[in-house]
Amino acid sequence: MSATWTNWGRNQTCHPARVEVPRDVEELATTVARASADGTRVKAVGSGHSFTPVATTDGVHVRLDHLSGILTADTVTGRVTVGAGTPLHVLNPALQALGLALPNLGDIDRQTISGAIATGTHGSGARYQGIASAVTGLVLVLADGTVLRCSATLEPEVFAAARVGLGALGVVTEVELQCVPAFRLHAQEHGADLHDVLSSVDDDVARHDHVDMHWFPHTDRVLVKHNDRVGEDSAGRPLPAWRATLDDDLLSNRFFEVVNRVSTRWPRIVPRLNQLTSRTLSARDYTDDSWKVFCSPRQVRFRESEYAVPRAAAGDVVRALRDWVDRHDVSLPFPVELRFTGADDIWLSTGYERDNAYVAVHQYHRMDDGGVFAAFEAIVAEHQGRPHWGKLHTLGADRLAELYPRFGDFLGVRDRLDPGRTFTNDHLRHVLGD
Ligand SMILES: Cc1cc2nc3c(=O)[nH]c(=O)nc-3n(C[C@H](O)[C@H](O)[C@H](O)COP(=O)(O)OP(=O)(O)OC[C@H]3O[C@@H](n4cnc5c(N)ncnc54)[C@H](O)[C@@H]3O)c2cc1C
Repeated sequence: MSATWTNWGRNQTCHPARVEVPRDVEELATTVARASADGTRVKAVGSGHSFTPVATTDGVHVRLDHLSGILTADTVTGRVTVGAGTPLHVLNPALQALGLALPNLGDIDRQTISGAIATGTHGSGARYQGIASAVTGLVLVLADGTVLRCSATLEPEVFAAARVGLGALGVVTEVELQCVPAFRLHAQEHGADLHDVLSSVDDDVARHDHVDMHWFPHTDRVLVKHNDRVGEDSAGRPLPAWRATLDDDLLSNRFFEVVNRVSTRWPRIVPRLNQLTSRTLSARDYTDDSWKVFCSPRQVRFRESEYAVPRAAAGDVVRALRDWVDRHDVSLPFPVELRFTGADDIWLSTGYERDNAYVAVHQYHRMDDGGVFAAFEAIVAEHQGRPHWGKLHTLGADRLAELYPRFGDFLGVRDRLDPGRTFTNDHLRHVLGD
């Protein structure tokens, strides 16, 4: 028995029978085929940044640390292939060195590319989609050790299923990405009133490339972030080093950790702390490389539930959540995040054929959630809410089949690629069925 594995949020643990770190695809294929032949489950794991038990196993945990980095790059077409274990914080600067970038990113860069796409990781931008939409090809090792390539023209059904594949179809070894020319973002951040923000949200989202909002529970204050795309050749005006350190290291992480520890001890002061924090946030205006603006360090550990709802439902969901918080004895030091993306064609993507708003509720990892996750789930259930596959939710296969029109097709591909369920675990049995 190997050591206990724990995720970043410290809410999931497992005891894999063994951990394998294959040096290449051949070694991986042998590992998977052997495990499968003797009835042992296999689970690829990325950086462990999912809050659900999606990456847990009692079988073989496979880490792709050696399948990392850019393998091929065409700087004219922007097509690159990368090892599936490449962390985004390695990928982003490597792409920049080639004059390229991913079209959109989430708010951290610690995930592996394969882990990020497997759960449908996304950022914000009504005219943009999640990271998996940039995928143009995948290579997978299947349960019997076979290597399978897929793209829009090669095994198109596998491609439609495997881009957001929950690790349920095979181990991804290589990802082909359609990148865009490197670009910068002009970031403008300011405080605003919740009611004003919600009444003008459609206009705001239409006018700016990437809109990210953070509502402070127990208050009517919102931190609004507008990021607009400018060319790589436009003058960069990054935050001064002292300001970046103050905001990202001291205020967002070290000071916020202290705030959360104090809140854990004296939860009743949270509303006053949130009032104070939300009013003291100062406006920021700067321009920097896209990935440096999209992603920032997150060292204060938390738990999170995030649901995608149709864009028009965003205001109703946030208002209902605000009412619930006001009526209950709960303390939430973390802001609730609101983001927006455009529709895509990936079968299990939260964005499948739907323009979405994402609402994300967080709680400090040492604090009880006070029932907010369950209440949030009940609210979004009235709006066809689709849960983020890597964030806390309780939905099972029956309900998910109603929310995803191609759910049955995904299961069909799974039956074909993994009939013996080598890649399953308890969580996948719950969300996909046996
Ligand atoms: C601090 C923090 C911030 C976050 N910010 C965002 C955000 O802005 N937007 C967002 O959408 N999400 C966000 N997330 C969620 C996160 O992006 C996802 O949970 C993502 O899946 C984590 O990637 P990972 O590499 O850690 O994968 P893991 O959590 O280790 O694994 C996730 C899934 O990927 C599968 N997998 C991994 N590698 C492979 C492979 N090679 N082949 C097949 N399957 C594989 C695993 O089996 C598992 O099913 C955040 C999470 C944290 C903790």
